[in-house]
Amino acid sequence: MIELIDVAKRFAPGDQPAALEQLNAAVPAGQFVAIMGPSGSGKSTLLNLIAGLDRPTSGQIMVAGRDLGKLGEGDLARFRRQHLGFIYQFFNLLNQLTVLENVILPAQLEGVTNRAAHARARALLAQLGIGDHERAYPARLSGGQRQRVAIARALINRPAVLLADEPTGALDSRSGTRVMDLLAEIHRQGQTIVMVTHDTHLAAAYAERIITLRDGH
Ligand code: ADP
Ligand code: MG
Repeated sequence: MIELIDVAKRFAPGDQPAALEQLNAAVPAGQFVAIMGPSGSGKSTLLNLIAGLDRPTSGQIMVAGRDLGKLGEGDLARFRRQHLGFIYQFFNLLNQLTVLENVILPAQLEGVTNRAAHARARALLAQLGIGDHERAYPARLSGGQRQRVAIARALINRPAVLLADEPTGALDSRSGTRVMDLLAEIHRQGQTIVMVTHDTHLAAAYAERIITLRDGH
């Protein structure tokens, strides 16, 4: 599902060590991978490259059969919307939209009918235990509830890969566990997941595989 071939990233020409150095890795479909490492080791940089949010300085990145380096900006944006889902530490919900409106937005941008988008959004919100809050605004929700809305939004277009950067980083341990249990359930249904975390316990408890970064290696 994901293949990284000699991937390097330098933010500045002299960058020593580079943010990422000559990275090679492959993630098969359906795997739940954790990317670990100390602060500044390149975890977010790697996730952003896989997400097509940033481009490598050299090397090749294949995701869901596509060579990201061969896609122009417009195609890359469409690729992200159709094939990737994102979850962030601080949720990144739109506060002026309701829960339901946040979740259906990526489907609307894809031209999915309103009826189909609403049905899928409601099914996801129910599965994630927040169906009762569809009319609420994000500001009224707890952190754990907001992250579950963000997960529903990430899944609405049935992405090939779900990418998560410290998804429990802003949550208390109880809501963090709830969010992780939900990700585990989504993984059991076949979802490929790449999660950045610096929490050893979470990685060991939930991921099938751990990729550890140190100074970009
Ligand atoms: P992590 O997520 O593991 O904490 P990052 O991937 O954010 O680490 O950062 C890896 C390295 O790249 C760090 O040295 C960081 O300062 C640098 N870096 C990250 N993003 C940028 C950027 N946009 N511009 C310049 N340097 C950056
Ligand atoms: Mg980071």
